[in-house]
Amino acid sequence: MNFAEELKNQLNIVDVVSQYVRLKRQGAGQRWVGLCPFHSEKTPSFGVHSGHQYYKCFGCDAAGDVLKFVQQIESLTFPETLRTLAERYGIAMPERSRFDDPESQKVAGLLEIHEAAATIFQENLRTDSGSEARQYLQSRGVSGDVAREFRLGLSDAGGQQLTQRLKKYGEPLLIDSGLVARREAGGTFDRFRGRLMFPIHDAMGKIIAFGGRALRAEDKVKYLNSPETRLYSKSSVLFNMHRAKVAARKNCRMILVEGYMDAIGIFSTGREEVVAICGTALGPGQIRAVKQEISYQSGKGHVILNFDSDAAGARSTEKYLSTLLAQGLRVKVLEIPGGIDPDEYIQQHGAGAYDKLLEHAPSYFHWLTDSARKRFDMHTAEGRIDAFKLILPTLEQVHDKMERAAIATEIAEQLGIEREIVHGALRSKSAPQPSTRPRDVSSGVAPNEKLLVACMLASAEARAVVRHYLARSQALEQLELRAIFEALLAAEENGAPFSLGDALAKLETHFQQVLTAIGFAESSVAEEQAADQALDCLRLLEAKLQQTKLDQLKRQIRELEAQGKIQDAIRLMNELDTLTRRPSKSESL
Ligand SMILES: [Zn+2]
Repeated sequence: MNFAEELKNQLNIVDVVSQYVRLKRQGAGQRWVGLCPFHSEKTPSFGVHSGHQYYKCFGCDAAGDVLKFVQQIESLTFPETLRTLAERYGIAMPERSRFDDPESQKVAGLLEIHEAAATIFQENLRTDSGSEARQYLQSRGVSGDVAREFRLGLSDAGGQQLTQRLKKYGEPLLIDSGLVARREAGGTFDRFRGRLMFPIHDAMGKIIAFGGRALRAEDKVKYLNSPETRLYSKSSVLFNMHRAKVAARKNCRMILVEGYMDAIGIFSTGREEVVAICGTALGPGQIRAVKQEISYQSGKGHVILNFDSDAAGARSTEKYLSTLLAQGLRVKVLEIPGGIDPDEYIQQHGAGAYDKLLEHAPSYFHWLTDSARKRFDMHTAEGRIDAFKLILPTLEQVHDKMERAAIATEIAEQLGIEREIVHGALRSKSAPQPSTRPRDVSSGVAPNEKLLVACMLASAEARAVVRHYLARSQALEQLELRAIFEALLAAEENGAPFSLGDALAKLETHFQQVLTAIGFAESSVAEEQAADQALDCLRLLEAKLQQTKLDQLKRQIRELEAQGKIQDAIRLMNELDTLTRRPSKSESL
């Protein structure tokens, strides 16, 4: 058994998840539910199954075993997850297992590739071919020191540099790194060509991805990022987080900007608590990381959104605002005057001026009412109501009831609407909504097939019965959930201990959803009866298949008779006779 399996055996997923999520047991069963930590929700759709040692969110489809959960919620690499859990629960970790499992080796290799690539890119920036890139940096006010601190670089325009110089890592690993891609005609080429390169680090400061900015006008894609890899998950990493976190803890705030250059520009002025989103949606992992740092001291702290002050920037602000409020964060919005981006503003007006803007950044609802005011005619009652309607959805995201009411009062004053209208709208909106039951993807499936799956999940004996039965019956190929039965049986092959996770790994998304839905359903199958019940299900299923076949034959015979094809009809009638006279195979079992 490798260390990961050993660790899994010693941990109870309910205990581990409970450190992050308030779980409630459902009845006396093995199912626990709570609010999903990976997406925002008001009614729980996050389930943990102590029997399967598996978690599943029916809202956002997050799912996995205890290791996956910790990896996902802490945004760690796999080896980091093992180390963290081993330390947290005082489980001795054999020295060799830190390195010798294939997964750790792969991760170590990928990290080396990124480190080597960063060095190569930095070298390129210093050579003659780097003059254009150096000029660009100069024009953006990035000094040599800052470029070195951020390890900015240049990717070679030829598209073969990494492929050649990092050859020793082997093609498969290079492709897994995302820095090299396979060419249709054969061979490989570098993903980033002739771009200004920004290394993206994980929270520990290791390079795990790159962002590349086009330097030439003919490059249609202005920013190109590393794809998702074993190291890099876009939705959980923020650019500059490893540098920003110290200052964020100290100052209880984090400045959130859109681009690399903004983060670098602001950081260089000494406001080090700045991170960039790198052009993705703000994911739960990113928000959690920010929340953790800004609430380090006082449990409070706030986020300052500082996006471009154009229309696109305003849309981003609105979008991220809702997400952040829904996660219970305090938010201010810094709007740069003059329609320029933060980096340009610092260039033109200096760090002191930016500092002043930062200190006076208004709370988000001031920004919201301001932008609503600009959009509607505030001289009319309709305009004022429309403006309020625009703000309402964001206001509803504020968790704290008292805070929500206070803000509502203030907004009413600012918009010149009667308080009663505002509070009334909030009340009717925040009335408990009918609980949205997780959509059951398995609802259309034949009940006997579902029950059979539940039996197989409940006991090893039931799985043995099914294996034995299906080996001598043709029924399997006609079952709707064939893929699931095969995966469940295959998960146990070669004497491996059965696990729901292994079975799921063998399935495509739709069947994964069906299997987890059945696995998490209120099941009445007791372990000791599962084998008998499984056999009953199999017999019923086979009988039903037989019946379907008979019905089909009868229909064909009628059609043939109607068409006057008597010979063919007689042939099928003989077939029908044999089928009805001979007992089905299941009865001989
Ligand atoms: Zn979820």
